[in-house]
Amino acid sequence: MSFGDQVDELRTHSLEWLRDARVEAVREQRRWRMRELAIVRVLDERDAIDDSLAAADGVSVREVRAAVETARARESLPRVAAVAADGALSDGQLTAVTRLADVDSDAEWAERAPHCAPAELQRAVRARTVPTVDESRRRHAARAVWGRFDEREGAWHGGFVLPDLEGSAVMAVLEARAEQMRPAKGDAWAPLRVRLADALVESVTGHGPERPPARAHVLVHVPVTGPAEVHGVPIAHERLEQLLANASLEVEVVDGDGATVAMLPTTTLIPTRVMRAVRTHDVHCRWPGCTRTTGLEIHHLVPRSWGGTDDPNNLVVVCAPHHRQLVPHGRWALNGAPRRVGALRLVPADALLGRLGPDRSPRGAAQARGPSG
Ligand SMILES: [Zn+2]
Repeated sequence: MSFGDQVDELRTHSLEWLRDARVEAVREQRRWRMRELAIVRVLDERDAIDDSLAAADGVSVREVRAAVETARARESLPRVAAVAADGALSDGQLTAVTRLADVDSDAEWAERAPHCAPAELQRAVRARTVPTVDESRRRHAARAVWGRFDEREGAWHGGFVLPDLEGSAVMAVLEARAEQMRPAKGDAWAPLRVRLADALVESVTGHGPERPPARAHVLVHVPVTGPAEVHGVPIAHERLEQLLANASLEVEVVDGDGATVAMLPTTTLIPTRVMRAVRTHDVHCRWPGCTRTTGLEIHHLVPRSWGGTDDPNNLVVVCAPHHRQLVPHGRWALNGAPRRVGALRLVPADALLGRLGPDRSPRGAAQARGPSG
């Protein structure tokens, strides 16, 4: 029967019948999906699953891998599997809940999952994987830019690896500039990749037509539970805390469905009056020996999560590269009275933690202290 014929036939039915038929169709689809996953499980046992399956089905390799993972997990989650077999879980719900539930929480999730939106479940999955300080440092350590000249093409090929927030900031500036490169009237827009290339050259060389400077507009999502995210990438609490003291990003508080609950203009987090006083006093980066006067950020000597306050005596300015190396994210702390000449010293983060005492028990302090405790 063609689609058109089916539609014609269905037009003869009552609204109630149609509603029931739709529910039945959804349930059947889900039961067939369970059947597919059971088959995938056995094929997997026989080592007969590979990426060619994705090509044959016209789905992505990732989807096939996810199906294999879900099929494997279902055996250890009998209650969730039973609810799924009943057709009560969508594919999105099932994939997420098999990553959330374990033997102990199987029954609980079997009850809860059918009433949770897939986005809510996915968020819960992500909330399980808050990046640690070590992970955040690893991302930072991997930063790189490379380029090589191709003799035959007479052109440079290259790329970059940048950590979460810095990468987002760079791309945001390039995209903002590319957006400003409107074509002359009647001309077609150049492809985005071409405009991004022009934006990169302009940003680095300072050449090009006069344009208002593009500012990085990095939106940080802070869900009610779970890690903050930049472009969907979870970031360490400690990294966010450092950045919150500065106006270089916008913070959006979102609920479980990703809907905006509030926008926090970061400038209001520390009173402008205090911020200005600190900037005026410090003039340049307070890292010993550093004289940078641009790109300065506000730094809490004792981080907020370790009990520090927004009191001017707890605030200094430092340049962005040095900010990364300071607590709570980095391995160093600035210690001393910031407004007394020469009284600020660089000490290992451990030393500051030792001074604060164990009762502070800051989040991530275990990582900051290292395995020696
Ligand atoms: Zn510096």
